[in-house]
Amino acid sequence: MNHGEWEYRVGLGEDIHALVPGRRLVLGGVPIAHASGLLGHSDADALLHAVTDALLGAAAMGDIGELFPDDDPRWAGADSRALLEQAMQRLREKGWQVVNVDCTVRAQAPRLAPYREAMRRSIAGALGIGVERVNVKAKTAERLGAVGRQEAIASSATCLLRRPAQR
Ligand code: MG
Repeated sequence: MNHGEWEYRVGLGEDIHALVPGRRLVLGGVPIAHASGLLGHSDADALLHAVTDALLGAAAMGDIGELFPDDDPRWAGADSRALLEQAMQRLREKGWQVVNVDCTVRAQAPRLAPYREAMRRSIAGALGIGVERVNVKAKTAERLGAVGRQEAIASSATCLLRRPAQR
């Protein structure tokens, strides 16, 4: 390896899930006290799904639906943190390291700012990186659209990967 020579890749992830009564709300792997939760085959953690897709995208390894198909009973009610850890393991096998992850989670309610630090720690822990490499921003949707009507919670994430350049 030639020190100082790195290959870098950037990735983007997006996700949205419907917010419905009678479901647990989990975002960034952190349980959140709320009267409704996200609907989906897994635990429907829209933030972790966006992070997983950003990582897979940067590594050109497809997407979360390809790795963990939602018609596969193995992933029913799956803990999205376990899925993220598995995706990260596949990246490691290809030599990738995470430089940083930046995310935005959009919810009209509940207020997510109090959970932001816990989400950062949870994501950093799943990726095996320092918390200073992970940022989580919480925004409302200014009452616009499905998120603004509290019918959904959406997330986006971007990440930078690096690995020693192959020469
Ligand atoms: Mg999803």
